[in-house]
Amino acid sequence: MIIVLFGPPGAGKGTQAERLVDKYQLKQLSTGDMLRDDIAKGSELGKKAKVIMDRGELVSDEIILSMIKEKIKNSEGNGFIFDGFPRNLDQAKALDKMLNELKLSLDLVIEIVVNDDILINRIEKRAQESQNARSDDNETVLKNRLNVYHQSTEKIKPYYLNQKKLVKIDGVRSIEQVSQDIEGHILNIGKQLS
Ligand code: ADP
Repeated sequence: MIIVLFGPPGAGKGTQAERLVDKYQLKQLSTGDMLRDDIAKGSELGKKAKVIMDRGELVSDEIILSMIKEKIKNSEGNGFIFDGFPRNLDQAKALDKMLNELKLSLDLVIEIVVNDDILINRIEKRAQESQNARSDDNETVLKNRLNVYHQSTEKIKPYYLNQKKLVKIDGVRSIEQVSQDIEGHILNIGKQLS
């Protein structure tokens, strides 16, 4: 099973991805987490990425795609859950191509819908409450991350709608309710495949 969790910053993709990992033994591939690991290691790639992430812009497709390629070719198990990737149309097309070469394909793209005002509140709260707050969780950078989401990331939606893979869920509910909705959609894939 291969799933993309799609949605704006602060929509709860990371939280939901972790729950799916536990429930279905999927491997979570979060490009944001991979980049933050590289920053923590102090690698050259990490240093380059940090400048871009701290502005709320997108790291180059070249870096992102090589990270993903490495992870999907070396993986066994029940499948993957992508979180924070793809983030523009070129990444979406490149993902399809990579999966195709491995004779795999995406099953489902789940969009977690939350409006901008709620996201801004959530992230400001997360920044205040967290001891090791992310350096990109502040008002100016967040607004830029939201702009990038609306300008580039959301433009992927018609691509997945055409493939009949996109489903939307309301992300302004409890974590449990959102999870239940996601699981309902996952059960549906099972039905379509069998
Ligand atoms: P959020 O969804 O809250 O913005 P992420 O952890 O997914 O957080 O991403 C943090 C930052 O990492 C992004 O603002 C961007 O700079 C970079 N990034 C993560 N994933 C990608 C990607 N697929 N393509 C380009 N940049 C990315």
